[in-house]
Amino acid sequence: MTDDRLAAEALHLAQGLLRCRSVTPADDGALAFCAAYLAEAGFTVERPVFEEPGSPAIENLYARAGGAGPCLVFAGHTDVVPPGDPATWRHDPFAGTVEDGWLHGRGAVDMKGGVAASLAAAAAVMRDRAAGDGAVAILLTGDEEGPAVNGTVKLLRWVRDRGDRLDHCVLGEPTNPEALGDMIKIGRRGSLTGRIVVEGRQGHVAYPHLAANPIPVLARLVTALAEPPLDAGTAHFDPSSLQFTTVDVGNPATNVVPAAASAVFNIRFNDLWDPDGLAAEIAARLDRAAAGGRYRLSFDPTNSLAFLTKLGPFVDLVADAVQRETGRRPALSTTGGTSDARFIKDVCPVVEFGLVGQTMHAVDERVPVADLGALARIYRAIAASYFGASGAGLHT
Ligand SMILES: [Zn+2]
Repeated sequence: MTDDRLAAEALHLAQGLLRCRSVTPADDGALAFCAAYLAEAGFTVERPVFEEPGSPAIENLYARAGGAGPCLVFAGHTDVVPPGDPATWRHDPFAGTVEDGWLHGRGAVDMKGGVAASLAAAAAVMRDRAAGDGAVAILLTGDEEGPAVNGTVKLLRWVRDRGDRLDHCVLGEPTNPEALGDMIKIGRRGSLTGRIVVEGRQGHVAYPHLAANPIPVLARLVTALAEPPLDAGTAHFDPSSLQFTTVDVGNPATNVVPAAASAVFNIRFNDLWDPDGLAAEIAARLDRAAAGGRYRLSFDPTNSLAFLTKLGPFVDLVADAVQRETGRRPALSTTGGTSDARFIKDVCPVVEFGLVGQTMHAVDERVPVADLGALARIYRAIAASYFGASGAGLHT
């Protein structure tokens, strides 16, 4: 397939996806559009729907083509965050408008543009018979921006239960801060949310000896967690960061000592920590600072572990493909928020590379049309090396 046709297909796919109003949990035809394209390109396509009580049913897509050899997966999501007031956008967020070389729309970079580039590249690999006896798989979910319970986690389990092997994965989330080629993500920090409640005794401010004010105790606890830093960072990770997101007393009166005060914090942690180790560190600091004050500490059940994809041939192969197309060596980073890579890493090594993230989740989200073509070429080049001689060392 020529570079021009590859770029044209990536743009066509991105526009088609942008015209679906797939704000989580809606799909609005996004996955059916992908399915039709992939089926036409020779993929076997399945559309499992997952649901559970209390959360909406979610459409997902699994497509695969090729032989019994190593399987390269392109993963992504077709759901998007809400656009806000469409009147604040320069173009209708669901029209897929191209103006002055830029494609506009909610999801242009996060991540319908990335999905479009990966589908065009995967189809090209199959049409050009470039995979040899290997296979290309596509994993798409409509539940990444939402609670993520009926998406990638269940889709990976579903693929495993049918006995299909996935060997290496490229996830097309936006990873570049400024320009295509800046950055590959080779891991992510973990995330843990904790809550502190200090219980005092309500009373009149003029009679403090009859009350127990929880606010000075909570202030000591907050300070004890804010300092000193948890660590100084590691070879591939920034220092862990603990941020308070709210401190609440909820007391409208100026003459009442409140009965309780609470605070919530989130920790983005590196590979020195796991949730149990952090919980122990937090509890030890709070016990020292509370100095006898009574408090309760709890952690949200949803947390994620820090992970790092092993450096070596697969990461090198992706970085080489990026460098050949963009002329720059991408930084290998673990910064940013969580992504579905935190689930995929349990199944196979995963590397993230996609578009420039500057306008993600923002008004006037947009991508240079030229970047879509370049990203499709990079994905095709990754597949070519993966299935070619230079990728042979990956599979032994
Ligand atoms: Zn995303």
